[in-house]
Amino acid sequence: MIYPETQSEASRIAEAALVELKAEGVAPNPQNYAIWFEYLTGRNPSLIRYIDKVREKKFKLTAERHNEIYSKFFAGGLDGGMPEGWSERIEAAASQIVQALDSAGAGTEKYGAALTAISGNLNSVESKSEISAVIGTILSETNTMNGEIQSLQGQIEESQTEINELRTQLATTQRDAVTDRLTALANRRGFDMALEELTAEARIEQIPLCLVIADIDFFKQFNDKYGHQTGDQVLRLVGRTLDDGTKGRDFAARYGGEEFAIILPDTPLEGAAILAENLRRTLESRKVARKGSSEGFGAITMSFGVTQYIVGEPLEALVARADKLLYKAKEMGRNRIVANMQDPDLKKSA
Ligand code: GH3
Ligand code: MG
Ligand code: MG
Repeated sequence: MIYPETQSEASRIAEAALVELKAEGVAPNPQNYAIWFEYLTGRNPSLIRYIDKVREKKFKLTAERHNEIYSKFFAGGLDGGMPEGWSERIEAAASQIVQALDSAGAGTEKYGAALTAISGNLNSVESKSEISAVIGTILSETNTMNGEIQSLQGQIEESQTEINELRTQLATTQRDAVTDRLTALANRRGFDMALEELTAEARIEQIPLCLVIADIDFFKQFNDKYGHQTGDQVLRLVGRTLDDGTKGRDFAARYGGEEFAIILPDTPLEGAAILAENLRRTLESRKVARKGSSEGFGAITMSFGVTQYIVGEPLEALVARADKLLYKAKEMGRNRIVANMQDPDLKKSA
């Protein structure tokens, strides 16, 4: 990390950082200090947004939350940090270009000097054979220059290829970090990021947003009976079903194990319930064939908890409510959806 602040700017920020640390009641250790220093420089918009959001909700930035923030924004967090060996590769590609340009510079100078020398001698040229010799020199200097330009072009192209490759790899690494390998849906990390973003949007634009959490029924039995690999095949089928059944900005993720989650922006509870019910039915009706055999496994079913985001509530509360509703669906016999604005337990006690 490069800090461009002057000594007096940095001192001012340092003092303000200590005030913040004291106000939050956390230890002024290097980790916590780094968070506030970075925050106060104002150059890390995602960190600022995150902290402001937490403060806006009047949550305390506890020591634990500081640890979370640090791992998210500093210790190779959200961005994943620089992959190993990359700084060397980028440096090598850049220095190759610099070297190529340097030698081109030297080459052009030499070429220019040769031409000047020739033109300086032209006044004294008297015979055809002398002119022919001068032309010969120009040609040979030009050939040399041409060769140098071509090798320069080659070197720059090589560096360009390397840099393009790095760019593609970086995009892949970034995508991999938020993608579940088995189902190709978003993973838990991708889900957390999307939920954060989409609920913020729902809050700002005052549009409804729903969360669906779904879990495969009796999956343990299935795995025990048919083996883990077949279980994985089912997970892929579920992933495909959820992906096919969601459109536009709907966001389906593998939440963990055999549990999936779908974020539905701009969707009220009734709409989310319909979508979940459609997914439930589609999955139930899918024939799961055993690989290399016409014999099937019987229906794969899932239970769904569906709820709507309540503006201002912590995201943990939203997820916990969807989870409880899912649990309720299990309790009620599985292969069904339970949709509610409220926690099922709260309803019971009311
Ligand atoms: P319920 O209807 O109550 O959800 O019952 P269940 O058996 O599905 O629930 P339980 O949580 O007891 O078991 C979940 C099982 O999911 C455990 C494990 O066998 C299976 N599972 C979790 N992750 C994977 C995975 O990545 N691949 C496979 N094949 N199975 C998994
Ligand atoms: Mg489960
Ligand atoms: Mg299950």
